[in-house]
Amino acid sequence: MIIEQIDIYHVAMPLVYPWRTAYGEDAAAESVLVQMHSQGCSAWGESAPLAAPCYSPEWAGGVFALLRNWLAPALVGEDVVSGKDLQARLAHFKGNPFAKAALDTAWWVLAATLAGQPLHVMLGAARSAADVGADFGVMDTIDELLPCVDQAVDAGFRRIKLKFRPGWDLPMLQAVRARHPQAVIHIDLNSGYRLEDLELFRRLDDFNLAMLEQPLGHDDLVDHARLQAQIRTPICLDESITSVQRAKTAIELASCRYVNVKPGRVGGLTPALEIHDLCQQAGIPCWVGGMLESAVGARICAALAMLDNFTYPADIFPSRRFYAQDLAEPELELEVSAEGSPQVRCLDLPGIGTAPHPRRLQQLTVAHATLTAKTR
Ligand code: MG
Repeated sequence: MIIEQIDIYHVAMPLVYPWRTAYGEDAAAESVLVQMHSQGCSAWGESAPLAAPCYSPEWAGGVFALLRNWLAPALVGEDVVSGKDLQARLAHFKGNPFAKAALDTAWWVLAATLAGQPLHVMLGAARSAADVGADFGVMDTIDELLPCVDQAVDAGFRRIKLKFRPGWDLPMLQAVRARHPQAVIHIDLNSGYRLEDLELFRRLDDFNLAMLEQPLGHDDLVDHARLQAQIRTPICLDESITSVQRAKTAIELASCRYVNVKPGRVGGLTPALEIHDLCQQAGIPCWVGGMLESAVGARICAALAMLDNFTYPADIFPSRRFYAQDLAEPELELEVSAEGSPQVRCLDLPGIGTAPHPRRLQQLTVAHATLTAKTR
């Protein structure tokens, strides 16, 4: 398809409550949306790296500038025939997976829209609904957390994820495990620990956790392999898997037994598909994670999560979890499966059937750029 125009929007979406992790606290989710135009049609992609370079080295303002100055000009006016072709055209720009993902996801949604197919079908998925998990961030007190976990278990969520960081660690986990001895629970350490904390990791083996998500450095693979060899609990890599090559190295080194795939973090749907396939061949199950996207980005994650090797419940949330009103419509809602577990179901519409609401987009936009074949 010839890419006739690319619109880029840097947005700040107010959250219903601040999002706290090992990295700090965000009052608004900053995201970058791309509208790609071809053949009288347009579609939306999204990449949500957050406001500051704390989850990864990228940040929303930087992603916007890079898209406007370098990446979008390399595509506009060009005939981009596949996701691989798109990635090849951007390959001489090093790194910056979140920025590339904004364009890559928009290309896939546009290709599916032009083909009249739902995105998950175009990606090769055989199912249209998948389980999602429940997540809990750091709270002020353990007493505040416990009823929330109770509610999630009662609601039938197939797994519970707890953020884990110094000061919100073993006592919190002990309290949750004591109340829910059978629940599938895992913890996300967001790179907050080091190999020297081996004593702590050995104690965590007693909690029968499904996995430890990203215990060590955000760019480490070697120490994770050393740690995995010394503990029973599977390690899941998140921050460390930033490309297909990094996934290959992690598999080679046996750095993990699970991989979390976020389309933004790995550079878009094209590398996400390749990582999915590599892990499947290596016998490593995967699961899809989200950032704080609007319903556009969440729908893209949902489409990806329909693939076979995404066997562990995804981090995909209903719009109301984060936003009083989602930037995009329709808002994402969950449904409950016949077995009683909360699921996300893909819309039976071309592409993702979701786009920003024009007035809300205008209200929440921090910066906007339009590139056409003439302006590049
Ligand atoms: Mg994580």
